[in-house]
Amino acid sequence: MNVHPVEEVRRIPVTSPATGKIIAEIEETPVHEVPFFYEQGRKAFASWSTMPIPNRIGFLRKLKQMIVNEMEEIARVISDDTGKVLTESIVADIMPTLDAIDHIIRHAEKVLGRQKVRTPLLLFGKKSFIEYMPRGVVLVISPWNYPLQLAMVPMISALAGGNSVILKPSEVTPLVGKYIEDLFKRSGFPEGTIQVAHGGKEVGAAFTAGKPDYIFFTGSVRTGKIIQQQAAKDLIPTTLELGGKDPMIVFGDANLDRAAKAAAWGAFTNSGQVCMSAERLYVERTVYPEFLEKLQGEVHSLRQGDDIDADVGSMTFPAQKNVVREQLDEALQRGAKLVTGLKPEDWKEGMYLPPTVVTDVEQDMKIIQDETFGPLLPVVPFDTEEEAIAYANGTAYGLNASVWTRDREKARRVSSRLVSGAVVINDVIITVANHGLPFGGAKESGIGRYHSEAGLRIFCHEKAIMEDKG
Ligand code: ADP
Repeated sequence: MNVHPVEEVRRIPVTSPATGKIIAEIEETPVHEVPFFYEQGRKAFASWSTMPIPNRIGFLRKLKQMIVNEMEEIARVISDDTGKVLTESIVADIMPTLDAIDHIIRHAEKVLGRQKVRTPLLLFGKKSFIEYMPRGVVLVISPWNYPLQLAMVPMISALAGGNSVILKPSEVTPLVGKYIEDLFKRSGFPEGTIQVAHGGKEVGAAFTAGKPDYIFFTGSVRTGKIIQQQAAKDLIPTTLELGGKDPMIVFGDANLDRAAKAAAWGAFTNSGQVCMSAERLYVERTVYPEFLEKLQGEVHSLRQGDDIDADVGSMTFPAQKNVVREQLDEALQRGAKLVTGLKPEDWKEGMYLPPTVVTDVEQDMKIIQDETFGPLLPVVPFDTEEEAIAYANGTAYGLNASVWTRDREKARRVSSRLVSGAVVINDVIITVANHGLPFGGAKESGIGRYHSEAGLRIFCHEKAIMEDKG
């Protein structure tokens, strides 16, 4: 819709975090176009929602093929936008997106098709069904840390259910947002079924207030609460995928070599900018010194940079660097010790922060209570199972947790007492790699689930149907 004067269009410069150079400009969507987006979305919904599921799935197959064909190019765009190393863009952003498309292709018809329900004897002769009725226009607001999958997974789940979608990708990674828009267009989705609005929080807020039929938000707790308040005014249902402060608990009988590797990876992959990264490490006191030494070795072996051999890239978002600094400064001022990583005097310009391990922290410090979203790992010894559980449950968050022990019964006992959307036993972060499992948070980590059956069905109303022969 190009009826507005050009000077009204604001442009967002895109800076590469790895090099600090401006690499592109994106046109911001003017907020007066919000009603037009919803109008287009509703028009498209009228026919998309009545299309049989297998036909909708056909479009997803085409989309998958295009992502496979363009994998290298997409990975480059993700790395330019985020500062991630290329392999990380492929393995942790593109592959999970492809897996999610596969999961939907396989399961959508079974999960979203009409379900027969047993009818009680009292209602003899009648038949009972559940139908999944799409909601309408779904607004997806996505973040910058995994800019492809955290936008695409809710989008394709909503589309499979017969909804049309408006995406507002993060302004921090607009090139990926642009690429997604282009991918959908080239995959032949009917006009208006998917639209992308570009810009920052003003644009996000304008679309939130524009009366979508559902909001799927991934981002910070602070913004999640603002969105929930706005949505409540119009009774708009929401899914909120928010932050985490995930604990990793290592018991003395665990495989310490594997656990040390996992801690280094779980805390520092993507420079710690993962909602489910290991942000607090609790280690049984009997093995604490031995474990710290192993961890130090693993952290020292990590290579940071933007070349093909690097394990860890740069931070993505400048403001996030300040969060890391603030938490580290407070901890060190209150007596914490730096095991390895960032000394305050080494703090410099640029977006590379070295993986940093800290000990001697208190449970009320920000480094323990607040999400870091950066390469900072506090390590705390514990004496009993009870104490480890209390530490792990002692924050406002509850996204993911990891428990390490060779004693399966203990692992299950501890897991079931953790207030957390997911627990991984003897590994970290991987629940998200199984799209059959629901993903989401407890407490301030969020509301609702995606992936799995639940993640497809949330984009639909359940309609109860009872049928008599008449
Ligand atoms: P971060 O600060 O880590 O970028 P946010 O939660 O602020 O995380 O951002 C996640 C997404 O939410 C981004 O796409 C951003 O533009 C959008 N956003 C931020 N503030 C608002 C708001 N008030 N209303 C709607 N969307 C918003």
